Amino acid sequence: MAALLVYSERVDTACELVAGGKELAAALGLGVSAVALGPGAGAAASALAAAGADSVYVSEDAAFEGWPADAVAAGLAQIVEQAGASVVLVGSTRRGKETAPRLAQKLGAGCVSDVSSLVVEDGDLVAGRYAFGGATVAREKLVTAVKVFAVMPKTFDAEGASAGAGTVVSPALSVSTAVKVVDHRAKEGDHVNLDAAPLIVGVGRGFNAREDLALGDELAAALGAVVGCTKSLADFEWLGEDRIIGLSGAKTAPDLYLSVGVSGQIQHTVGVSAAKLIAAVNKDKEAPIFALADYGIVGDLYEVLPALTERLKSV
Ligand SMILES: Cc1cc2nc3c(=O)[nH]c(=O)nc-3n(C[C@H](O)[C@H](O)[C@H](O)COP(=O)(O)OP(=O)(O)OC[C@H]3O[C@@H](n4cnc5c(N)ncnc54)[C@H](O)[C@@H]3O)c2cc1C
Repeated sequence: MAALLVYSERVDTACELVAGGKELAAALGLGVSAVALGPGAGAAASALAAAGADSVYVSEDAAFEGWPADAVAAGLAQIVEQAGASVVLVGSTRRGKETAPRLAQKLGAGCVSDVSSLVVEDGDLVAGRYAFGGATVAREKLVTAVKVFAVMPKTFDAEGASAGAGTVVSPALSVSTAVKVVDHRAKEGDHVNLDAAPLIVGVGRGFNAREDLALGDELAAALGAVVGCTKSLADFEWLGEDRIIGLSGAKTAPDLYLSVGVSGQIQHTVGVSAAKLIAAVNKDKEAPIFALADYGIVGDLYEVLPALTERLKSV
């Protein structure tokens, strides 16, 4: 059976793609295969099977250590041929964004990147992709025999998928890499993982000064939430890049996203559209974030936040 092939170096993203890919594959009459590469990759096979993979191609070849894009693209190209895959979904992580076009080039395939939705219409895959800096959504089809899509994390939900057989396949691969990793250095400062955070307080330019962000920190501490921000605040270097939510940063799916002093431009809100509940504090009742929010407070954050924090501490 021809296959839809899924790859991401991140197991959570790969599982989302397998679960979402399973529905697409069923509509296209394809099976779903997943790929796990690099030393220790075999450990991911059971999670990928539980997410719905019929087969899992595993290679622990040392050339895949650190997932260099040249080696991963070469390995994937060989697996695409062995699996008879006609559709490849690559997680659009930083590594995935480097890998997908290289893979497409090797296969003579078309490639759509930054895919935020993928559906089957009239027997064809149609990808939605933010264009013009997120101002509009382009809908694109590929006309090549093999099609590569780099799909943004959180586009699909990994929950609720029916398990696949997960037959483990050890492909015969011939790969090498021109990349030599000479050093690994941990990032300085606090590191946050917004992708997995259940509660997020998002701060924006409504704050007048860097030190005022303490108000946001206090609210987050009272809620047990982590702090994310708009790109504007990272551009000011008030917060690190790993705090950015949106097109240029994290795609989150928290139970609650509480934005404070955030206008709600599309480039930001694409990163919170999967939130279960959105609440907003903004002094402008016309701010676009209110169109998305389930609950809103129109008011000055300098008055609202201390009162909200106090109230949360007392419950
Ligand atoms: C290619 C591209 C990619 C981008 N990627 C991202 C991205 O990933 N993430 C991202 O966030 N942005 C991104 N942007 C930037 C984005 O377009 C917006 O400029 C940015 O999100 C706006 O940030 P903001 O809401 O903090 O600021 P503003 O738009 O300036 O909004 C500030 C808000 O604070 C409110 N406010 C002011 N004072 C107070 C107060 N005292 N109390 C309460 N409310 C107050 C105002 O009413 C206003 O609504 C990108 C842009 C481009 C072109």
